[in-house]
Amino acid sequence: MIIIMLGAPGTGKGTIAGILTKELGIPQVSTGDIFRKNIKEQTELGKLAETFISKGQLVPDDVTIGIVESRLEDPDVQEGIILDGFPRTVRQAEELDKILEKKGKKVDLVINLTTPEDELIERIVNRRICSNQECKTVYNLVLNPPKKEGICDVCGSPLIQRKDDTEETVKERFKTYTEQTRPLIEYYEKKGNLYSTLVSKTINKLGQDVAKDVIKYIKENNI
Ligand code: AMP
Repeated sequence: MIIIMLGAPGTGKGTIAGILTKELGIPQVSTGDIFRKNIKEQTELGKLAETFISKGQLVPDDVTIGIVESRLEDPDVQEGIILDGFPRTVRQAEELDKILEKKGKKVDLVINLTTPEDELIERIVNRRICSNQECKTVYNLVLNPPKKEGICDVCGSPLIQRKDDTEETVKERFKTYTEQTRPLIEYYEKKGNLYSTLVSKTINKLGQDVAKDVIKYIKENNI
C-alpha cells in the first residue's frame, strides 16, 4: 500500500504518519528527515539541502526525486510505504507515478491535511522534536508538552527545535507550499485517490483522531 501525506507545514503529516506506521506496519519515509540527517552529518547532500531548507525553499526536484527513487528499491518498503512530505511539486508527483508504474504499483491513498493558518504558526513555533533519530517523537509545548521540560518521555533524549521552525522561515514555507505544493490537491483529486480532512483544535480533531478516521476509511474501502 502506497500512502502519501500531503499538507502545509505543521498540519501533522509526520505525527499522523507515525501512528499509521504502527497501525498498518509499513514504514514512514520522510524526505525532510532524510535531509536533516544529512545536514547533521554534513554530507554533500546535507550541505546542498541546507541552503534551501534554511530559506524555506524546496530542495530541487532532481535531487529529491533521486533520493525517493533509490529509497523505493529498499526491501523494507516493498509491501508498502508512507511518504511523508513527498511529493511536494507536480513534477515530483508525475515522476513518482512513472517510477511506480514501472514496478506495477500506484499511489493508493493521498491524505490531504488542512488547518487554519494562525493555528499552524502557533503549532510550529511550539513544536519540539526528540533529537534521537530512532525516536523522533514530536511534542507541542502547549497541546502536548513532555512530562519533563526539554526531555523526551519515550526515550529520555533531549528535545530540539527545528532550525526552520521560526516564524520568519515558516512564512516562506507557507508561500512555497501555496505556490508549489497546493496544486497537488487538484492533481490527486483528478486521480480519485484523495482523502481530505481538517486537523484543528477548533473542531476538536487532532492527529490521533485523524489517524483513527484514516484507518477506518482504509478498511471500509479495502485500500
Ligand atoms: P519537512 O520535514 O517535511 O517539513 O521538510 C523540511 C524541509 O525539507 C522542507 O521545507 C523543504 O525545504 C525540504 N523538503 C522536504 N521534502 C521535500 C520535497 N519533497 N521536495 C523538496 N524539498 C523538500
